[in-house]
Amino acid sequence: MRANREHADGTGDTMTYDDGLTDEVDPRGTGRAARRDEAVRAAVEQGLLDGDTPLVALLDVTGIRESAAGLRAAFDAVTAPGTPVLHAFAVKASPLVPVLRLLREEGIGAEVASPGELALARAAGVEPERTVLDSPAKTAAELREALALGIAVNADNPQELARIDAMMAGSGSRSPIGIRVNPQVGGGSIEALSTATATSKFGVALRDEGAREWVVRAYADRPWLTRLHAHSGSQGIALSMMARGIAETYALAEEINGRAGRRQIDTIDIGGGLPVNFASEASSPTYGEYARLLRETVPGLFDGRYGLVTEFGRSLLAKHGTVVARVEYAKSAGGRPVAVTHAGVQVATRTVYAPQSWPLRIAAYDAKGRPKEGPAVVQDVAGPACFAGDLLAQGQELPLLEQGDYAAALDTGAYYFAHHYAYNSLPRPAVHGFVPDGTGGVAFATVRAPQTIEEIVAESGAAHADALTTGLPR
Ligand SMILES: *Cc1c(COP(=O)(O)O)cnc(C)c1O
Repeated sequence: MRANREHADGTGDTMTYDDGLTDEVDPRGTGRAARRDEAVRAAVEQGLLDGDTPLVALLDVTGIRESAAGLRAAFDAVTAPGTPVLHAFAVKASPLVPVLRLLREEGIGAEVASPGELALARAAGVEPERTVLDSPAKTAAELREALALGIAVNADNPQELARIDAMMAGSGSRSPIGIRVNPQVGGGSIEALSTATATSKFGVALRDEGAREWVVRAYADRPWLTRLHAHSGSQGIALSMMARGIAETYALAEEINGRAGRRQIDTIDIGGGLPVNFASEASSPTYGEYARLLRETVPGLFDGRYGLVTEFGRSLLAKHGTVVARVEYAKSAGGRPVAVTHAGVQVATRTVYAPQSWPLRIAAYDAKGRPKEGPAVVQDVAGPACFAGDLLAQGQELPLLEQGDYAAALDTGAYYFAHHYAYNSLPRPAVHGFVPDGTGGVAFATVRAPQTIEEIVAESGAAHADALTTGLPR
């Protein structure tokens, strides 16, 4: 069925799509870009951003809701009716309680990988049955807590499974338990993010000698093992390779169930890892493209015999976050203009340390927060930290940034400003969520208050100031 729908962003932009295949309300990102421009202008107007508060992070709540709805629609469109599907947001991508609660309201659970992340998910009200614990280094205490809460656990390795064995005996835990496998289908363009290479640290490496047989036997020996987990995608990994990883995982589940003579594995957790387009405004690839590729590659996964868990992180949030930093000084070095801003390694750690792998688009706004006009000039956008490599962007073409302007680092909603790096004791900036207020303006809500200097001092051992002098014998 064809449908015409007006964009929810008020741009008047309309698009046509097959209803059943809807996975992106705003695939070209025009609505998102317009909302962002409005938000930057409003942030300056409303005093969230000025000379005294030269750095903020903004979250596009409308966009997050659209992505969550897009994710649900994409898998609804390829699964048999009635298939249980849990979308568990990878908390590490945006460990902010209001974000987790927003996603919960959108029907998305939580994938957690540490006691801290579990506590955040619980603070957001995410239910145990919509929470999944993965991590390669769970302590006995973490496992005990997870089993007591009834949250799903994926065992990473034989030693962890042995711990769970001891805890499950007579515990009456309702936790669904799985094993994480590494299908070893290969890596992508970013080595540090490739989870399915031959030597990746995660899960049971399926192609290693004896490993597959061990996994099959582990299920045969434990009727309570009902899930199978793989997370083989990430930024820089081709969809076809991700799909191959899922196909291998599905084949293993079929083998295990075949040997068991029953549907022992009732749920396959396919992980997350959909890459994000950092090069332009468009959302690509989309959840719909990935879901359709999976259905083509692994049709049996969608015929209703298996429940599904997904664990997307970056793809749900990245496009909806913007770091906006004031240009404190504009200078020139070696003939190249350099805008010295307040956003650097503390909010864009990956980009600063690995600029080739993590380039960011920068948008230029004037001192009133309006998109800056003017000819494109090749320039560097620097951060405030005291080392030469602290650059948000090198040699980027932008309207010339001048003192008092604002530079916005785009697509930073996942793994950027929520992952503060405390270099130079630079404070964590405030995070504000925003929506169009319905009367042409923008409404903001604080997601995370800015870190104060007092907090930095306290977190830096102020209460133990004498620890190394009078606190120890000399
Ligand atoms: C990081 C991680 C995810 C999320 O990955 P994205 O690339 O952010 O989608 C999901 N599952 C596991 C086990 C992870 O470690």
